[in-house]
Amino acid sequence: MIGRVVKAVAGRFLIVCEDGRSEETEGRGKCRREGKILVGDRVEVAHGAIERVIPRKNRLIRPAVANVDAIAVVLAPLPEPDLMLADKLLIYAASLEIPVYLALNKADLFKADWERDLTAQFRSAADGIFPLSAERKVGLESFRAALEGKFVVFAGQSAVGKSSLLNALGGNSFMETGAVGERSGRGRHTTRHAEVFDLGGALIADTPGFSMLEGAELNFRIDDADLYYPEFFALSDRCRYRRCTHTHEPDCAVKAAIEAGTASASRYLRYLRLREELNASKPY
Ligand code: GDP
Ligand code: ZN
Repeated sequence: MIGRVVKAVAGRFLIVCEDGRSEETEGRGKCRREGKILVGDRVEVAHGAIERVIPRKNRLIRPAVANVDAIAVVLAPLPEPDLMLADKLLIYAASLEIPVYLALNKADLFKADWERDLTAQFRSAADGIFPLSAERKVGLESFRAALEGKFVVFAGQSAVGKSSLLNALGGNSFMETGAVGERSGRGRHTTRHAEVFDLGGALIADTPGFSMLEGAELNFRIDDADLYYPEFFALSDRCRYRRCTHTHEPDCAVKAAIEAGTASASRYLRYLRLREELNASKPY
């Protein structure tokens, strides 16, 4: 029988099987090794134990989850959005070839051009941008439609409204249903595990640790950074130099687009900052 791991605590796993039933299991043989089975894994279950992990299509390091279909980056006008973090999450996702949705929450607090500005900045980098309000229940249907049938990781600063959004979407936590006994005794708020919610058609992982992505965790060479900015990469064919870094080179199509206002200057300035950050954290 094939199932999906939705919860992992102290060597015990909650599996949702293909027929919709859930089952509590443990690893058998090699699958008992620490870290061998991740939330999101598809596994083969026999006689109440996991016998095999089906090869993953991807895995995130922190949070440790597997087979992610999309990352939803939640932003809001309040608290002050950390757009550098948003860029990093987009780059991280692009480097793993995982689609990204931007959820612009707290629509009731949007000022004049906030939504238009963010949409202009991220249009080419995101696979969908969803203005919505968890509190006022605005825009939830189209966002839900994008999540349908997927395993999606929610990411973003704290207080942007990730839990409110999960509640508004009707998410049911596998943690709170308590099917796998919590043995650590440290209380669930200290746990670093990804918490998975069932939206009835979509699985969502809410991940507190995902709000602090360091440049060093972006696992690519500095001079390849532009590969993960789709709008810059699309222009790079027209730069004079084949390996243009879009920083100091003459006849750079990216810089020309910034000057002409056809690409986002804010994104470009953050691209320069990210390069500096990467330079400082890994000298190659
Ligand atoms: P999280 O830390 O990302 O999970 O954020 P929470 O879901 O805890 O929300 C943080 C705060 O934002 C709470 O006070 C929510 O009531 C508030 N909030 C959530 N959604 C909205 C919204 O659509 N509009 C407004 N004005 N506030 C919201
Ligand atoms: Zn260039």
